[in-house]
Amino acid sequence: MADNYDVIVIGGGPGGYVAAIRAAQQGFSVACIEKRTHRGKPALGGTCLNVGCIPSKALLDSSWKFYEAKEYLGEHGIKLNQNQPKLDLQQMHKRKDEIVAQLTGGVEQLFKANKVTWLQGAGRLQAGKKVEFAPGEGDKQTLQAKYVILASGSEPIQLPVAELHEDVVVTSTGALEFESVPKRLGVIGAGIIGLELGSVWARLGAEVTVLEAVDTMLPMVDRTVAKETQKHLKNQGLDIRLGARVTGTEVKQKKATVSFSDKNGDHQETFDRLIVAVGRAPCTDHLVSGDAGITLDERGFIDVDSQCRTEVPGVYAIGDIVRGPALAHKAIEEGSMVAEVIGGEHTQLNYETIPSVIYTHPEVAWIGKTEEEAKAAGDAYKTGMVAFATNGRALAAGDSGGLVKFVADENTDRILGMHVVGPQASELVQQGVIAMEFGGTMEDLQLMVFSHPSLSETVHEAALAADQKAIHAVNRPRRKK
Ligand code: FAD
Ligand code: AMP
Repeated sequence: MADNYDVIVIGGGPGGYVAAIRAAQQGFSVACIEKRTHRGKPALGGTCLNVGCIPSKALLDSSWKFYEAKEYLGEHGIKLNQNQPKLDLQQMHKRKDEIVAQLTGGVEQLFKANKVTWLQGAGRLQAGKKVEFAPGEGDKQTLQAKYVILASGSEPIQLPVAELHEDVVVTSTGALEFESVPKRLGVIGAGIIGLELGSVWARLGAEVTVLEAVDTMLPMVDRTVAKETQKHLKNQGLDIRLGARVTGTEVKQKKATVSFSDKNGDHQETFDRLIVAVGRAPCTDHLVSGDAGITLDERGFIDVDSQCRTEVPGVYAIGDIVRGPALAHKAIEEGSMVAEVIGGEHTQLNYETIPSVIYTHPEVAWIGKTEEEAKAAGDAYKTGMVAFATNGRALAAGDSGGLVKFVADENTDRILGMHVVGPQASELVQQGVIAMEFGGTMEDLQLMVFSHPSLSETVHEAALAADQKAIHAVNRPRRKK
């Protein structure tokens, strides 16, 4: 093993592994230090591939197929033999695990192909761009780098009033592994992760209660979209209690009794399983030594500029340990940007056009300003909104819940935000990303040809609706200024 590298990346998640590969592509000698083990084996891919985005989406997709077979196949004229589909949860987990193994193994292959050295163990930044490497087995070593990229990611926030307890009170990681469908499932936190995991188990038959301290549903989402989302999740059996702050938890005989208070007083509910999904915190506790020159803020984040430079020249930090949304695609693009900046490029990320997605059914996806944000900023704005119920393709698919909404500048016609709740929202929002990146306007989208029949026609119609030109929906009167 060499002890000198051009670039050392600490953390092999989506931020770190992309940074390592992109740096190697430019001819740098690169090592990526990653300490994670998954199912007893060293694993690349970070939270996202091992216990985050990918396994959760595998379960979301599988559980939706089960729910669809139970609830909706009949209306398509498809009858199941015994009338009810039968769940093989072990097979569902096996499929999820195989996808994870395929993708994490793929990153390992990409490292080999790009000549990135994977150092299995923990890394810690020291002064002078030295990195202490503690392998899984054996003595610590000191490595020297010209550039260091910190990409150690995040971990679930622990809630003192709901301490983890074996397989009864768990984080998102445990919630991806339940060996049976809990009869009664509690979820603390109605954020993205809480709603996605609550959806998985509700679709598979659990009675799900979500306790959320804040009294607003998805406060970061456009109000029209949030209300529509709440309606659909309620119909799927998620009992979302807003303004319900958890104050204590007691585990007895493999059941968790949760105390919480809301505007009507104090309450208790008993669950077979409880998921604590109250956010994630940066993993920076043992990442930098005292003399490294990096200061952490009170929540453990590392301060960086718009190109992820820390206060130490040649040291960068990316992904969940720095400002901005804790999303894999944000970490990926920061990894790529930093590697290119090190290589002398002028790459810059547009933080205004990072999409967010909640993979419930229907999916929720958005980019840019909500109507409420445009109003609060005093923008002269207009909105265009159309429901999927007006879309032939959505109706043909039997998946016509939800809507597309644009917020655009009244004077320049430029798109300020796009908000979708509906089928394939995660894919549709990308049209808004592309349009906004090109400085697109409502008129641009109005004049483009969209395939018929396609879900994308709703994007077209919503753009038309912004100027009262929708054809397949009744136009709303122009908003009074
Ligand atoms: P991570 O993926 O956390 O990777 C960091 C890695 O660094 C870890 O593997 C860790 O072991 C390693 N590490 C830490 N410290 C050290 C050290 N000192 N030495 C060596 N290695 C170290 N985001 C989305 O965009 N879309 C989604 O659908 C989505 N779904 C999610 C679902 C769940 C259940 C969860 C938990 C998260 C989800 N996320 C999703 C968030 C996403 O996983 C993170 O934003 C993303 O993984 C952040 O990437 P990262 O590279 O910054 O860190
Ligand atoms: P996110 O940060 O998007 O993952 O969402 C986590 C959610 O958990 C936030 O909406 C918080 O308001 C919520 N939350 C945090 N603490 C509590 C608590 N004690 N009881 C209920 N909800 C909580």
